[in-house]
Amino acid sequence: MIHATEHFDVLIVGAGISGIGSAYHLQNQCPNKTYVVLEGLESYGGTWWMHRYPGIRSDSDLYTFGYRFKPWTSAPIATAQEILKYMGEVIEENELRPHIRYNHKISKATWSSENNEWKIEVTKTDSGAKLTFTCNFLWMCQGYYRHAQGYTPDWPNMDQYTGTIVHPQTWPDDLEYKDKKVVVIGSGATAATLIPAIAGDCSHVTMVQRSPTYFFIGSNINELADQLRQLEIPDEWTHEIVRRKILFDQEAVTKLSVEEPEFVKAALLEGVRGILGDDYDIDTHFTPKYRPWRQRLAFVPEGDLFHGIKSGKADVVTGEIETFTPAGLRMKSGEEVTGDIIVTATGFNLNVLGDIEFIIDGEPLVFSDTVTYRGMMFTGIPNMLWVFGYFRASWTLRADLIGDFTCRLLNHMDKLGASRVTPTLRDEDANMPLFSWLDPENFNPGYMMRSMSLLPQRGDKPEWQHSQDYWMEKDMLPAADLDDGCLLYE
Ligand SMILES: Cc1cc2nc3c(=O)[nH]c(=O)nc-3n(C[C@H](O)[C@H](O)[C@H](O)COP(=O)(O)OP(=O)(O)OC[C@H]3O[C@@H](n4cnc5c(N)ncnc54)[C@H](O)[C@@H]3O)c2cc1C
Repeated sequence: MIHATEHFDVLIVGAGISGIGSAYHLQNQCPNKTYVVLEGLESYGGTWWMHRYPGIRSDSDLYTFGYRFKPWTSAPIATAQEILKYMGEVIEENELRPHIRYNHKISKATWSSENNEWKIEVTKTDSGAKLTFTCNFLWMCQGYYRHAQGYTPDWPNMDQYTGTIVHPQTWPDDLEYKDKKVVVIGSGATAATLIPAIAGDCSHVTMVQRSPTYFFIGSNINELADQLRQLEIPDEWTHEIVRRKILFDQEAVTKLSVEEPEFVKAALLEGVRGILGDDYDIDTHFTPKYRPWRQRLAFVPEGDLFHGIKSGKADVVTGEIETFTPAGLRMKSGEEVTGDIIVTATGFNLNVLGDIEFIIDGEPLVFSDTVTYRGMMFTGIPNMLWVFGYFRASWTLRADLIGDFTCRLLNHMDKLGASRVTPTLRDEDANMPLFSWLDPENFNPGYMMRSMSLLPQRGDKPEWQHSQDYWMEKDMLPAADLDDGCLLYE
């Protein structure tokens, strides 16, 4: 069956938190633009739809991980279900649903400067049908990691292990872990969430980590929000006030982490010691070698992970894995760690541009050859923008800022009568030093470091930077001059 090509002014890739937010901004700030959201999965939510492991929850607060425009009214740390409900309300309240097409997996995007248009090739994941769309502007909200498969290092003799190996990203619905001995490899936010969620049912859980992570222990309440609610302040006000307070406090902590890392480190470790006690070997198991904030700080509500360890239901082994064995793992120290199930909470595979093949005027795109314009557009790629959120602050803060920027750009193009905008280095940028997409001094989680060479480069000028600094960008992006010569309009 032949399907007619459909055309839209704007095509949004992905219906995760970024894609849904972008659709909202576009609809509100560019009401005359036609648009469609294409999503490869059968529903919205992205990360929050895909991840099904026990205990899955946010590790940042929902006042800032939630959108600017939709008040969050519950406890700050939310389960995936709560986040999906919130996103569902955004879709319903703003009548976004008719614009979203699920089960639409994009495989190829071809730009033609002759038509000033993208041609988008899609396979319907339910029927296998091939569809073609065209659009003038491509708004990439495909996230940054491959959903179908998590990252598992290749350890020796994995095939000899006789138990079950599971990655949290593809957690089987029917995995039976009751009364089983479980080993969780990894100590990031996923492990910290998963372990307390299963420890009560398992006979024992061991967390195996190569090196320790910082954890921030706190309560899953926001006292200010609760007080404002008690005073019957409207939800919109409470949302805004609490966001400001959280961001104010986070800025202070971020500054302190840079200026006085030892002080912040001591405070974080004190929280852990408060639960595990002075006799526990915190130096070996919970004292990272890196500065606080170089990797995302994992929030542990009520210290549940540490209570699990204190109670003896869970323990920690720190060191390098030498090999898998039929019964589990052998560490380089010689220690044997055995279990019926091994969970590899070892992170993501970076997925650059949603595994979409990009062709620009007949030439395959080499994304790593491009230089980023403000961490969202790329030299030589016309009419395309990628929402890459914050890591240290909530991702969505940036999705909202970029939403405003994109709509301002689209409206500016209309005013100029331009059909094409291409980030282009100016003469004065010719000898600009170029750096990797993220500054590893600043932020260096494994999944980014492994794949940095696939990502665009950044320069040292504000226009060509990707700073990951919300507190700078919140003022800089709204004020960015669209006619500063970096954006070429045709
Ligand atoms: C377990 C977990 C917890 C996290 N917790 C937090 C947190 O608390 N705070 C925080 O700030 N960040 C958190 N993050 C980071 C998180 O991924 C982002 O914050 C955010 O959810 C990303 O949203 P997104 O919409 O940009 O991407 P995603 O959620 O990855 O969604 C992208 C969507 O695009 C679709 N897509 C991709 N390629 C294609 C294609 N070719 N064709 C069609 N559709 C496509 C995908 O199917 C997906 O639905 C967490 C990540 C994980 C994995």
